[in-house]
Amino acid sequence: PSREEITYFGAGPALLPTEVLKTAAASLVDYNNTGLGLAEHSHRSELATGILNTTKDDLAKYLDVPNDYEILFMQGGGSGEFSATVYNMVNVWVERRKQKILKELGVEESKIPENDLVQQLQKAVDEELKIDYVVTGSWSLKASQEAARLVGAEHVNVVADARKINDGKFGKIPEESSWKLSKNPAMVYYCDNETVDGVEFPGFPKILEPNGDDSPLVVADMSSNILSRRIPIKNYSLIFFGAQKNLGSTGITVVIIKKNLLPPVVGTPAPTLLRKLGLPIGPIVLSYETIAKNNSLYNTLSIFDVYIAGQVLKSLLATFTDKVDGQQAVADKKAQLIYAALDAHPESFKVVPAKDARSRMNICFRVTHLESVDESEKLFLKGAVEKGLTGLKGHRSVGGIRASNYNSIPLTGAEKLAAFIEEFAKTPK
Ligand code: PLP
Repeated sequence: PSREEITYFGAGPALLPTEVLKTAAASLVDYNNTGLGLAEHSHRSELATGILNTTKDDLAKYLDVPNDYEILFMQGGGSGEFSATVYNMVNVWVERRKQKILKELGVEESKIPENDLVQQLQKAVDEELKIDYVVTGSWSLKASQEAARLVGAEHVNVVADARKINDGKFGKIPEESSWKLSKNPAMVYYCDNETVDGVEFPGFPKILEPNGDDSPLVVADMSSNILSRRIPIKNYSLIFFGAQKNLGSTGITVVIIKKNLLPPVVGTPAPTLLRKLGLPIGPIVLSYETIAKNNSLYNTLSIFDVYIAGQVLKSLLATFTDKVDGQQAVADKKAQLIYAALDAHPESFKVVPAKDARSRMNICFRVTHLESVDESEKLFLKGAVEKGLTGLKGHRSVGGIRASNYNSIPLTGAEKLAAFIEEFAKTPK
């Protein structure tokens, strides 16, 4: 089939706007009459820096990122950030804890015997270091497992595990009143939209809202719902997302980090100190300090991927004068259309997650039209493909159907899927 004939609902990488791809394809051969393709230009050229800075500015504009945040382009994907957040936030914790010890002793670091400081810090690490994870699906679970692998399970605190309130399966968000937050954790981590399980937080968790000096350091994975709704960025210490779902092509990962987590506000503990404390030392390419200091050009970055993201943002800014609020209205409408069609036929379809945890981006459901769910789903997928609705198979770990309803799915695409759901429910049994 031709590109125009299909609507692709795959979970990622996702569809990119055709016009953006056409411009990008031409730029690969010859970028702006320079005689060189964009992937051939040096990442250190003025041209590359221009693309990078414009993309950063447009992202900041579209999401209203406040001035006290830095935007970083990294590599290693969302999975790389599972590790990076741990390394960097543990560093911040150690550095702050060290400062506290020095303050209590009333001495400068250079005046205290190193072993005394190490001993006191070691005690603090052993007794107090916790990293909090709210586990609501496969990706936050993976992130928490990575933390346990890097620093040891004894330092990982699962604040809540959604499986415990839902027969061992993901699909609900545990009540905030049941969350068991640590005292002064290195971060409180959660995944705003669980791509595999179709679970999305309805908004910023109230319990994590800033409250003065005791404000929690909140870190969120927004890989699969960024740019689809307004987010209160000032409530976060850090937000990260891979580009490949709502922003651009696979290959760059974006980090929005509060500047007070970077030098000079907070230092970086010396590798020798971390080694003595038995804490991991992160790879230099995952160090937010290093990437920030070099305006994301510490090492070779795919400027072509940054360019694609920049073109997507340009088109979003041109389409929605009210910026991300405009996209949010469309995203909400598309999701409502599809869920309404599913809910209208409870005999044929069952949405997997609980109503108040339903994702607008990844709509997960089972087909119960025939006696056998397996047969029903095969029939559904076959019929969908015939209509040009592709990529609807659920994640291999959970099965079922998943319609990934990212920004590049047009309203007409969601309408086609909703119409097919209605039609399928009338299939003779
Ligand atoms: N986080 C979420 C919410 C995801 O959906 C994914 C991938 O689909 C990841 C993290 C992992 O991203 P990556 O494959 O870029 O490492």
